[in-house]
Amino acid sequence: MKQRTIEKEVSFSGIGLHTGQKSKITFKPAAVDSGICFFKNGSKIVPDADKVTKTIRGTTIGEGEKAIHTVEHLMATFLGMGIDNLCVEIAGDEPPIGDGSAMPFVRMIERAGIVVQRKEKRYYVPGRKIEYRENDVKVEAMPSDKLEITMVIEYDHPVIKKQERTFEINEEVFKREIAPAKTYCFDYEIEHLEKIGLVRGGTLKNAIVIGEKGIHNREIMSFEDEFVRHKILDLMGDIFLIGRPIKAKITSLRGGHSSNIALAKLFKEDIKMTGSETELGLEEIKKAIPHRPPFLFVDRVKIIEPLKKAVGWRKIRPDEWFFKGHFPEYPILPGVLIVESIAQTAGVLFLAKPELENKLPFFMAIDDVKFRNPVFPGDELTLEIEVQRARLRGGKVAGKAFVGEKLVCECSFMFSIVDKK
Ligand code: ZN
Repeated sequence: MKQRTIEKEVSFSGIGLHTGQKSKITFKPAAVDSGICFFKNGSKIVPDADKVTKTIRGTTIGEGEKAIHTVEHLMATFLGMGIDNLCVEIAGDEPPIGDGSAMPFVRMIERAGIVVQRKEKRYYVPGRKIEYRENDVKVEAMPSDKLEITMVIEYDHPVIKKQERTFEINEEVFKREIAPAKTYCFDYEIEHLEKIGLVRGGTLKNAIVIGEKGIHNREIMSFEDEFVRHKILDLMGDIFLIGRPIKAKITSLRGGHSSNIALAKLFKEDIKMTGSETELGLEEIKKAIPHRPPFLFVDRVKIIEPLKKAVGWRKIRPDEWFFKGHFPEYPILPGVLIVESIAQTAGVLFLAKPELENKLPFFMAIDDVKFRNPVFPGDELTLEIEVQRARLRGGKVAGKAFVGEKLVCECSFMFSIVDKK
């Protein structure tokens, strides 16, 4: 399966479930390998299990000004609909709750249209059986060739007791069986939840409310066993915080957001141990390579396979110094700086090891450079690196730069690694 994004921008507005405040989300297409990202007040927030700050009745990522509450229904939609790369711009602290299910987000993606991108999806498959226990909660994941989820919920309550469901998740099953399942709560908890600042946007239209003797608003329900299905939705959203689609057989006994996140963190540890993918931000890039502004030309690097493959990104800002002269009144990114961006990404791939801290990468040769398309202010370069030959003191690398799906430059080069002194 190839990676997927959306074709065009779409927006949706409404009230946040917990904050009760108006908010608006906009989905935007994103480049291959860039993953899901959020933008709030101009800052980028990567939805990541390690950045989860709260798991009470919803999953919150980030802190203070940068916090975004209740991200799980959005994330579940992306996983369920097979969307790998997408930006969510959010005006507010929480996505709109809509009708309490994931259907408003599914419809947004359908309105936007799905685009199949040029690279294969990179699934996470557990390297072994992964298990998490806490009191009477147990979650486990086994390697598989598809995503299969079993959920068991159990309450000491006359209206819902035990529900159990298993689904093999794909886009169709997600849309039909999981996405329409609404969030729910018990009527006796509402007062307390409001007191601690939650469910302030909850109504009888966007949450199923369970009372002692029955359900207060059965008319909004789509399934008899809607509760267990909604728990699967939440679990999908939480585990997608590892940033990769998943092939595993997952079983959750009485689990919730906190055990879902614990499982996602174990997945992330497993990814590290099986020795793939690490993502480096600007600070880590600066530790790896000696380049500094105004001559640092890569913002973010993902190492896909150590010493073999990496992807970098570089946002071309309209106020870059060289646009003043290249060219006056017709700003266009100098082609040699695209080559430089590719080379710096390769430098990070080679030098992102503490033992290489005192080294510098030097160009030895640049070959077969072709510039295919111009790059303008505001574009984002995706820089793909593949190592053709690696030696202790250097290597040969092939690089390609894209803007969106469009190839803008390709080249190959040799470099050597020398001591700073
Ligand atoms: Zn939920």
